[in-house]
Amino acid sequence: MGVKTKTTRETGASQWKAATRLLHFDSGIQDPYRALSVPLYQTATFEQPGATEWGEYDYTRSGNPTRTALERALADLDGAATAHAFASGMAALTALVRLVPDGEEILAGDDLYGGTFRLLGKVTERHNVDVRHVDACDPDRLAASLSPRTRLVLLESPTNPLLKVCDLRQLAERIHEHGAWLAVDNSMMSPYFQRPLDLGADLALQSATKALSGHSDLIGGVVATSDPELSERLAWTQNAEGTALAPFEAWLLLRSLKTLSARLGRQEASTHVVADFLRDAPGVRRLHYPGSPSHPGHELHRTQSDGAGSVLSFETGCPERSARIVEGTRLFRTAVSFGSVMSVISLPCAMSHASIPEGRRQESPLPDDLVRLSVGLEDPDDLVEDLSRALARA
Ligand SMILES: *Cc1c(COP(=O)(O)O)cnc(C)c1O
Repeated sequence: MGVKTKTTRETGASQWKAATRLLHFDSGIQDPYRALSVPLYQTATFEQPGATEWGEYDYTRSGNPTRTALERALADLDGAATAHAFASGMAALTALVRLVPDGEEILAGDDLYGGTFRLLGKVTERHNVDVRHVDACDPDRLAASLSPRTRLVLLESPTNPLLKVCDLRQLAERIHEHGAWLAVDNSMMSPYFQRPLDLGADLALQSATKALSGHSDLIGGVVATSDPELSERLAWTQNAEGTALAPFEAWLLLRSLKTLSARLGRQEASTHVVADFLRDAPGVRRLHYPGSPSHPGHELHRTQSDGAGSVLSFETGCPERSARIVEGTRLFRTAVSFGSVMSVISLPCAMSHASIPEGRRQESPLPDDLVRLSVGLEDPDDLVEDLSRALARA
């Protein structure tokens, strides 16, 4: 067609840093008009060249150029061979569960997103897959818990909402010795700050609803991998179950990725300002932020990531006081989720983690006075003033 677009290969873009690659990546689209923004292919079907001939795309459930462009950008960001975009983080997690054959087992961390506990507890019990939970931040305990039936280890680091840090390199090695796969739910960090595959993981998962989108305007999920067999099975599941991300959401996410480095850099800097304020604030008992030198996982986190992110949590010693703080802020809105340009405040026990089954909560108690903050793009001085006022009034 004679379309001349500079591809990543031609420009040598793979040597560039993530912030640059997010803007200059090979979308795979041959656009005759050479639009700078990736076109939105809002279509369900594609005309075939003939009755028994197929083009590159035929039906959006199986593939769509806008989604492909997004998946290329996401794979590049994660340092993966391929990425698969799903309709939600939970759909992405479900696709991971589907990788585990009947009769085998998932070993999962014990400080996980509430919806993950629900999925692993309720959905897998109807399939013939067992699930056990273990403290993944204790490598010896995790290694001792691996059994010959363990096929997949699923964990988060830093964990949510307690922000404990797991040694991903060491865990990957020990899990591989047992012939199992390591999957890291990396929603808290995003691949901009941490790339689990570089540390040895087989699968890196994201709720794209969080930092990747950053605008609280879409639900999406991603799984990245460099294992061709896992990739093929994920694509198969995505098509068979119809769980792929819709074209418009893929386009919105492509738009969000352009500002990822600007957003996350600024949000993280503001989180440090907020953490510095909270560390000495009256009535704040324990601060959990891996960016703080006093955090027990601080040094380890530094060796496996490029930043500490924009989420922190703290305890007050009194659940009622914590609830009053959550209700007392004006800029920090009371909402679940994190990673948005708008700051939010929540009580995980009552909100994002309320779906954790009662039995599990007794085994691994989440402090009921825990307050979680996600720091957005507001001026950090205003955020500190907002918190300061809410703490004083609570
Ligand atoms: C939000 C979240 C999920 C679920 O993602 P959805 O996009 O809401 O389906 C999974 N894991 C973590 C760590 C999350 O924060």
